[in-house]
Amino acid sequence: MSAHTRFVDLTGSPIIDDHCHGFRAADLVELDPLGWEDRLTMMGMCFLSSGQTDRALADQVTGLRDSTVFALTARRWLAERLGVEPEPQALAAARATAIGADPAGYCAALMAEQNVVAVIADEGFPQPTVPRDDFERSLGVPVHRVARIEPMIVDLQAEELGWSEFEAGLEARLEEAANDAHTVGFKSIIAYRTGLDVGAPTAAEAGQAYDLWRAAGWPGDRGPGKVVRDYCLRATLRAAKRLDLVMHLHCGGGDPDIVLAHVRPQDVFGLLHDHMDQPIILIHGGYPWMAEAAYVASILPFVYLDLSEFLPWASVGIDRELEMLLGVVPAGKILYGSDEASEPEVFWISARMAREALERVLSGSVERDFLTVAEAEDIGRGVLAGNTARLHGLA
Ligand SMILES: [Zn+2]
Repeated sequence: MSAHTRFVDLTGSPIIDDHCHGFRAADLVELDPLGWEDRLTMMGMCFLSSGQTDRALADQVTGLRDSTVFALTARRWLAERLGVEPEPQALAAARATAIGADPAGYCAALMAEQNVVAVIADEGFPQPTVPRDDFERSLGVPVHRVARIEPMIVDLQAEELGWSEFEAGLEARLEEAANDAHTVGFKSIIAYRTGLDVGAPTAAEAGQAYDLWRAAGWPGDRGPGKVVRDYCLRATLRAAKRLDLVMHLHCGGGDPDIVLAHVRPQDVFGLLHDHMDQPIILIHGGYPWMAEAAYVASILPFVYLDLSEFLPWASVGIDRELEMLLGVVPAGKILYGSDEASEPEVFWISARMAREALERVLSGSVERDFLTVAEAEDIGRGVLAGNTARLHGLA
């Protein structure tokens, strides 16, 4: 039981979510109302986003719900919010009624209650991309975008281009995305493709690898395709620097499609070291290897850490890791995010968990005389919104 007095009050502090995924509020009414708790948990969400359909696996996911701390917390908090008993059937029914009455209004209320004032959407998931305007209408808050390079690569592969056209095509797509005033960064999920141990091939080496990769039918292994992807990521980093955009880089775990052997912060250190003079956010903060990411962010000035995925799904484990991060990393480089990718309630739950966890952990730092209350509250407000706003040039 925490004995901390609550010195730090972040009630009402605005929140900017630096990593989430688009949806259309109107589509929520089409989803199975009783399946929503499964879509809410880390395992359930991953199960869906990685395209699993196996019945026995699905039953196991459902069976684990009632022993998942996050699911129980979410159920009780949301039942309280909707004024019903924390019981799956009653809650699902109340929720379906509330969404059915006004889908966008339901989502906007969730955002407003937690004062989530803006989000940055990673457009790579789901595919096809949910247009920014649609997502913005669904949330009722400004939506900024990061353009993901892997769908660009898929488009270019379909065009059956030679290497020089492929390379020019990627540059043209990056420029086009950057020309949209709503674009604040580029994103890569090379961690899901060939891993974060990114090499430094020359253009000639990438061109040779491209011909082999194409001739072989674009296999997904770590052969020639990896050389091309490594080259494309470095080209994207050069473009981001030239165009004054932030690079968002998935680092750490994800759904079961992840190349788990090559996604740790230590794997990407070489790339970060080579590009240490430009802002790069490790999306998911290297979770579950957050201590490793914290170390990297403590020695490389422009490496930032996003808290999404860890928030909200680490639930009762959030405080301990948050304390480690705040102790090691300059707090101006820690960015709130939810990784909402399935249900709008994730915005609300994650924001509430983050605000309360920051209050507890920062209060502890005041109690132990590391910070004054004013310093602690400044740090808390920065993590929740200010750091992301400043880094991305948001109003
Ligand atoms: Zn995500």
